[in-house]
Amino acid sequence: MTAKNKILVTGGAGFLGSHLCQRLLEKGHTVYCLDNLYTGTDRNLNTLSKFSDFEFIHQDVCNPIHLKVDAIYHLACPASPIHYQRDPIQTTKTSVLGALNVLDLAKHCRAPVLFSSTSEVYGDPHVHPQCEEYWGNVNSAGPRSCYDEGKRCAESLFMDYHRMHHVDIRIARIFNTYGPQMCANDGRVISNFIVQALQNKDITIYGNGEQSRSFCYVDDLILGLMRLMETPKLHSPVNIGNPIEKSMNEIAKIIINLTGSRSSISYHALPIDDPKQRCPDITKAKELLNWEPIVPLETGLRKTIAYFQAVLVESQSVTQ
Ligand code: UDP
Repeated sequence: MTAKNKILVTGGAGFLGSHLCQRLLEKGHTVYCLDNLYTGTDRNLNTLSKFSDFEFIHQDVCNPIHLKVDAIYHLACPASPIHYQRDPIQTTKTSVLGALNVLDLAKHCRAPVLFSSTSEVYGDPHVHPQCEEYWGNVNSAGPRSCYDEGKRCAESLFMDYHRMHHVDIRIARIFNTYGPQMCANDGRVISNFIVQALQNKDITIYGNGEQSRSFCYVDDLILGLMRLMETPKLHSPVNIGNPIEKSMNEIAKIIINLTGSRSSISYHALPIDDPKQRCPDITKAKELLNWEPIVPLETGLRKTIAYFQAVLVESQSVTQ
């Protein structure tokens, strides 16, 4: 997409959405950001509102969308466990009704549409690293299933709109991502550990800390999404994430070192169905998108720490 296009980003006020909107605006596109602000923030919107070609639409993706657009990035859905488990029925509705509304719009506008799916479709995986052909190991009755099964159902809808109505779909399976503009209170491991370390509070490790995740810096991730959108005829799911795997014990040590924190580590119960390991096989993205992450973990963490330092200073000046 080299011309100036009208692009809809659902969930554009959230962590990934706001980065994506900014990148698209910098490329000269007009961006419609549709968000109900359930987890998206005014802080993110304030930055984006400085661009004249940015328009905010305060709407829930569960309601039909009436716009004329050239392309759609569909990101709207609470994504951290504490946020998506707060109202699990609404989470499933957001995934399923949101997908239907976005796909109807894409069909009507004949616009390409990218869906932000998730590594959670692999559940607590028996195959490692996870390739796109692996069908996953999801507990359909557990507390994570509102998110996991919602996203799986949305993938199914995307594939069926492609097969039945020839909608030009893309499916990105996004693995753990971190960076500036994460919510300080979303309970995710990187935001929790950094905020705890900066305040010299205990670092809360769940379980024995040997479970692993693979963390992708947000700039790399956004580039991967845009490459996927720009790659024609790629209608099957593609993993987008960083294949360098770390345990939570390792992450805690790295963050304590980078912040120079005096925090100790405390161990807590592991949440139900918490996956033991997670690491993307990104062969498909490398070969078909010519994409792979380039930002080293330490570089990305330093930028994220600087962001949270600023957020903490801001919140202190508000409470004083
Ligand atoms: N986690 C942790 N301490 C925290 C928050 C999370 O040890 O304060 C663990 C969590 O149990 C999981 C991992 O870190 O094993 C990643 O959690 P996150 O919620 O960031 O992502 P997800 O589980 O959705 O991959």
